Amino acid sequence: MKVIDHINNRKGPLFSFEIVPPPRGRTVQDIFDIINALVPFKPSWIDVTAHSASAYYNERADGTVQRRIYKKRPGTIGICGIIQNRFNIDTVGHLLCNGFTKEETEDALIELNFLGVQNILAVRGDGLNYKKNIAKDRSVNLYASDLVSQMSSIKRGLYLDELSLARPLNFCVGVAGYPEKHFESPSLKQDLFYLKKKVELGAEYIMTQMFFDNQKYFDFVAACRAEGITVPIIPGIKILKTKNQLQSIPSNFYIDLPDELVEEALKNPEHIPAIGIRWAQQQVEGLLKADVPDVHFYIMNDTELVVDVIKKFRQ
Ligand code: FAD
Repeated sequence: MKVIDHINNRKGPLFSFEIVPPPRGRTVQDIFDIINALVPFKPSWIDVTAHSASAYYNERADGTVQRRIYKKRPGTIGICGIIQNRFNIDTVGHLLCNGFTKEETEDALIELNFLGVQNILAVRGDGLNYKKNIAKDRSVNLYASDLVSQMSSIKRGLYLDELSLARPLNFCVGVAGYPEKHFESPSLKQDLFYLKKKVELGAEYIMTQMFFDNQKYFDFVAACRAEGITVPIIPGIKILKTKNQLQSIPSNFYIDLPDELVEEALKNPEHIPAIGIRWAQQQVEGLLKADVPDVHFYIMNDTELVVDVIKKFRQ
């Protein structure tokens, strides 16, 4: 089932989750453990993030340096297939511009379609730390809007090459939105201009970057509506777990943490997980009161805290 149909047909609150593929070297048991922990809470769908390759440097004993380019977390498509077909839970496969050619994206869409996955989140990704050699006859998507455009074409049966037996692929496409503005954008207005473009090119819903202050989400939704963006805007939240995150969340995601949360966490660092759970429960309460389409949890494969948050809302 598509994300948009889950939203339109919902009878009560929906909860969805984002997981990341386990690091290279781990096994599928990691996925089984995560999904088994989430199943009792009836996920409306599960997102699986995508990762481009990075360059890693290894200094050998003789002083020479070896450069290897690989994905630390491969497996997005396979994991979507497992969750979709073994657990019968709808999945959203993330696909990126950065690090992938349009041809690779087309192949990924075909594979996801064969696996019964009906949802894609189209995101740009962040800068590569190496220069990917792109063959002269290959092309790339620069922005997420280009990716959405490619997906809309394939939904009409328009592949990169004209194929006589081509059939349209049927996907619901979502895109990312930033209540606190994307860090590269000079202004929120400019960011919303490009967000609207993604919707005009075919995105059916927006998934937000995490936020810890619901007012930022409500203001963002109002600003989107004022710009004429009418698709559902799904709030994404994360549960604070460690003292380190007081620094790493703002620096990695370019968002603010509310003073009240920071002060309480610094006063009682040993109780941060409990503080994080209580804060997230308050956020969920406020969001459900506002009848949001779904509450999405960024769990980074850590199911312990989210289970504690959500059991208050799902018996
Ligand atoms: P875009 O929509 O392309 O926007 C990027 C920036 O360019 C913005 O500042 C925008 O205003 C500007 N812009 C857009 N179009 C144009 C244009 N035509 N001309 C000039 N400027 C333009 N990263 C991963 O690597 N893997 C994931 O699985 C992943 N999942 C994510 C899920 C969510 C819900 C979110 C919020 C982020 C996710 N990210 C992921 C991170 C994401 O890749 C980064 O935030 C990235 O910097 C921007 O991606 P985007 O799709 O929003 O980019």
